[in-house]
Amino acid sequence: MLQIANTELKRRAMLDGLTEVMNRLGFDSAYGEIWKKSVRDRTSLALVMVDIDHFKCLNDTYGHLFGDEWIKRVAQTLQSFTLQPDHFVARYGGDEMMMVLSDTTAWKAAEMSERIRLEISEMAALELSEDGPTVTLSLGIAATIPSENLSPDVLIKRADEALYQAKAAGRNKTVIWK
Ligand code: GH3
Ligand code: MG
Repeated sequence: MLQIANTELKRRAMLDGLTEVMNRLGFDSAYGEIWKKSVRDRTSLALVMVDIDHFKCLNDTYGHLFGDEWIKRVAQTLQSFTLQPDHFVARYGGDEMMMVLSDTTAWKAAEMSERIRLEISEMAALELSEDGPTVTLSLGIAATIPSENLSPDVLIKRADEALYQAKAAGRNKTVIWK
């Protein structure tokens, strides 16, 4: 009984309270495991780093609680695209989230990212006033076939660089790291 309670406590410690997807601690642990599995299987591992554009402006206009609702919606939308058991979403920090997609190429991840980006901008167009700020996403993708002599952090850094490029190119975009 005590063992079950401990397992449940550990599981909850890895979840983000607002969105109920994994938190950073959960990401670190699950990503490490998926990286090792991808090394063994020699399959492509893709990361999609997602950030809400000008999110501070949405908070400033409609309030923090309204902003919270959109963070939840973005997390749920990302989650709805993770159909394989070893694909997952984590809240990486603030308005930034990460999708971890095993056995997925950069192109496949980009196709998924574009569908997500359009789904969120359509949702925002339907629900938010035309006069105020809207909700769009920038997405940075990096994929590789992991090997023992490559650090898992390298792929995170590349996804971050691609996200930075998407922001610099005007936001509301998907960029693949090259
Ligand atoms: P950019 O397009 O460059 O990403 O602009 P941004 O405004 O989204 O970026 P910035 O990093 O300046 O601001 C992120 C904002 O996200 C500021 C912070 O208040 C908000 N934020 C972070 N965590 C939460 C949260 O849990 N709830 C709400 N409502 N807002 C949050
Ligand atoms: Mg942002």
